[in-house]
Amino acid sequence: MGNNRSHAIVIGGGFAGLCATKAMSRHFERVTVVERDHLPRVAEHRSGVPQSHHVHALLLRGSRELERTFPGIADELIAAGASRMDLGGELAYCSEFGWVPPVGVGITPMVLSRILLESVVRARALSDVANLHLLEGTRLTGLVTERNGDHLRVVGVKTNHPEHRELRGDLVVDASGRSSKCLAFLAADGVAEPPIEMVDAHSGYASRFYELAPDENRWWRGMLIEGKAPTRRRWGLLMPIEHGRCVVTLGGVNGEYPPADEPGFMEYLNSLPTRALAREIARAKPLSKIHAHRSLYNRARHFERWTERVGGFVTLGDAAVAFNATYGQGMSMAATAANALGDTLGTYPDADAFALTQRFHKAQWAHLKTAWQIASGADLEWPGTEGKRPFAFGLKLALAATVVRASHELPQIKRLYAPIYQLVGSPWTLVRPDLVALVAYAGLRRSLGRPLVRLPPIDCPTFAQDHLPPLQEQAPLHASLQPRA
Ligand SMILES: Cc1cc2nc3c(=O)[nH]c(=O)nc-3n(C[C@H](O)[C@H](O)[C@H](O)COP(=O)(O)OP(=O)(O)OC[C@H]3O[C@@H](n4cnc5c(N)ncnc54)[C@H](O)[C@@H]3O)c2cc1C
Repeated sequence: MGNNRSHAIVIGGGFAGLCATKAMSRHFERVTVVERDHLPRVAEHRSGVPQSHHVHALLLRGSRELERTFPGIADELIAAGASRMDLGGELAYCSEFGWVPPVGVGITPMVLSRILLESVVRARALSDVANLHLLEGTRLTGLVTERNGDHLRVVGVKTNHPEHRELRGDLVVDASGRSSKCLAFLAADGVAEPPIEMVDAHSGYASRFYELAPDENRWWRGMLIEGKAPTRRRWGLLMPIEHGRCVVTLGGVNGEYPPADEPGFMEYLNSLPTRALAREIARAKPLSKIHAHRSLYNRARHFERWTERVGGFVTLGDAAVAFNATYGQGMSMAATAANALGDTLGTYPDADAFALTQRFHKAQWAHLKTAWQIASGADLEWPGTEGKRPFAFGLKLALAATVVRASHELPQIKRLYAPIYQLVGSPWTLVRPDLVALVAYAGLRRSLGRPLVRLPPIDCPTFAQDHLPPLQEQAPLHASLQPRA
């Protein structure tokens, strides 16, 4: 089986497809992208990406990987209206224990809308990749395959394009998202699916874009009213986006689906543990309809354990591993996988089609595994979640909960562990001696009835009054965060 690299075909011109196109463009003479939608040249919603109506976090890992694929893109995003938000100091955060005193922790992911992000990625892919051939408004209708004994080689794709009913290529990349049909097409050739792992918390979103009423006392830029297993199944999040706007997403777990009609949406908002967000929204100007989304299950198609001998074909992005969006990991992992594909092509220039497929899928899972453990683990904490609970699950949960609890009192702890959830830090950080010592210290103080910080309770008048207090008024809380010797 040869290692010809003249033509690659990418199915799907969404986030993963465009990142992959750039990452592998230097390894192929030509890259063709087959995309069902007509891609807008500006920041606009489109039918192929309905999730763009909802809040989208770009984790630090995503920014880092995107910068690698498209050097300079962070500056372009900022110039287009994105901004950075400190997760400690600019987020009004109502945890299960009460309001967390805002203290800057220097962890500043970018905040922006999905349509802005995707439009800039798209513009860069179109301008950077000279050998890109974009077939828009073109749907994949099948795969072209050749069988040789127990080996099946994917040698191209079939489309509904009148002039390109069949395209031949040396590598076919499936980046067509959660609804990918590629495995169904391969089944027609007698190819079995890879092992599939599902963890479904039966989560749902309902979201709307707003412009907040001006308020000179508003010190925060985002607000999170957290849910908590096993009973607090409703949560709400407000995040700033570009041009002074924001997006509000209401979430629910274990069958608690926020409604998309106006009265239902407002009622849900008002039912959150604190009415702080509802009060803001009552004064805000709606800029969109309310959109609901329910397909938020975690699904890992374990291609790295695929025993079928398939070559010339790889899968990445949501088509391979889809995460519950609540943890904001999907795009970061799609960008990571795209770079892993570029790396695999570069590291194994002579690999045959079968070896390449296997090597890439193994590399991809090595990168995605931690994100999978975080998302599926958090979802499995809920009693109504379907999925297999791993060994010592209860113990791991208790450990993580202890660290999170202590981090509300000691920002140093948040500084240490937040990178794990931004997918730029190792999970082993949780057992670092300095972190363990800080957590133990905070826990000891609490057990002695002398907590380092008394978190204002959820219904605390300081935080739950009509206007949250300006940052200066919370200075005493900041000062009290310093542990006394
Ligand atoms: C409600 C919601 C909120 C989310 N929030 C976040 C977040 O905060 N942070 C984050 O990182 N991730 C988030 N995600 C996940 C993120 O949206 C996905 O991980 C990301 O879009 C994956 O990119 P993709 O290119 O693999 O798939 P998609 O974005 O789904 O793109 C697939 C592309 O393939 C095209 N296509 C599909 N079928 C065909 C076909 N037959 N022929 C041709 N083209 C086809 C589609 O039109 C589309 O352009 C969220 C997801 C949802 C559902």
